[in-house]
Amino acid sequence: MEQACAACQRLPGSVSLLAVSKTFGPEAVRAAYAAGQRAFGENYVQEGVDKINLLRAEGLDGLEWHCIGPLQSNKTRLVAEHFDWVHTIDRLKVAQRLSEQRPAGMAPLQVCVQVNLDGGANKSGVAPQEALELARAVAALPRLRLRGLMAIPEPHADAAELLAVMQGLPALLENINAELLQGGELAQAMDTVSMGMSNDMDTAVAAGSTMVRVGSAIFGHRPAKPTPAG
Ligand SMILES: *Cc1c(COP(=O)(O)O)cnc(C)c1O
Repeated sequence: MEQACAACQRLPGSVSLLAVSKTFGPEAVRAAYAAGQRAFGENYVQEGVDKINLLRAEGLDGLEWHCIGPLQSNKTRLVAEHFDWVHTIDRLKVAQRLSEQRPAGMAPLQVCVQVNLDGGANKSGVAPQEALELARAVAALPRLRLRGLMAIPEPHADAAELLAVMQGLPALLENINAELLQGGELAQAMDTVSMGMSNDMDTAVAAGSTMVRVGSAIFGHRPAKPTPAG
């Protein structure tokens, strides 16, 4: 990450690391924790909740859990009660449920709107031209705090093309910030561009990502199925 920042003259601290621990057991999280990592990403709700509960019971302090998988309405309660962040808001209904179900004793759930930047085969996320409307509605929900935008661009053979696609996300964030701040619909500017994985992290950093989500480059080849918690 430091090299990627240096290569495009960004400050090293301007990008944060989300370690994607999906399908890896709690021992992987413990090892990364011992090395100083605190923010972890999970795709599968039950697998994530099992890890969260286990590691909390062990007394690991200061962990921050991010839900980065597609979220169905029937799983929102578990997410609202256990996670700190959700990156994959692509429907108002899911956001409304998360807001209603977020326990009063917990901090607001930090959320990103997922954008389908390139209209790629990965169909999760709203179209860029629909992102403002969803962001506006999400910003009005009392128990959520809108932090930014997230995208999973399709792989590209041509790095320059991928860079151009990726630059669309921070640009969209700026536009939405301007629109919603001006109207007083957003109390604080969104500050998070969640973009970049093991294979495209450098390009994402060059494009302006502020949070890269890296799994296999940290933990190694992913097992096909989640490891049971233990
Ligand atoms: C699995 C996953 C990642 C991490 O992917 P790697 O290629 O292992 O770095 C990042 N973001 C999302 C949304 C994922 O599902």
